[in-house]
Amino acid sequence: MTPFRIGYGYDVHRLVEGRDLWLGGVKVPAEKGALGHSDADVLLHAICDALLGAAGSGDIGTHFPDTDAAWKDADSRDLLRRVKEIISADGWTVGNVDATLVLEKPKIKPHVSAMRETIAGILGIDLSAVGIKATTNEGMGFVGRGEGVCAHAVALLVRA
Ligand code: MG
Repeated sequence: MTPFRIGYGYDVHRLVEGRDLWLGGVKVPAEKGALGHSDADVLLHAICDALLGAAGSGDIGTHFPDTDAAWKDADSRDLLRRVKEIISADGWTVGNVDATLVLEKPKIKPHVSAMRETIAGILGIDLSAVGIKATTNEGMGFVGRGEGVCAHAVALLVRA
């Protein structure tokens, strides 16, 4: 068996008034927050899916269905902790994760260090093994109109 596995994750949430904006386990001050069954942390959800995909272990919807009241308003840091347990039980350790957020505003740069520290802490990996970037959508499409936020992530798993 190949001792490495790569995984990819994508997520999107609507942005609405009256919700907090959680990104990468950090509450980011913003006019609008992401709508969802859980805290709607699009970045952590994409990372969860990248990790689960690499392990061939389904996706976030399989493990934490939004039809299950147990995950209502769930803290996505807890979901990431659970995902780490699932892939560890399957015999994998995390090599690195890399992710890109796509949203018009607010500016993400001031929060990137806190996001990386949070994710590295949960996954038990070095800070240098967590990449977080952000870009706008140049005013185009639903992201450009401020109607939603997207995240893409890749993860490398290494056989424990
Ligand atoms: Mg999601």
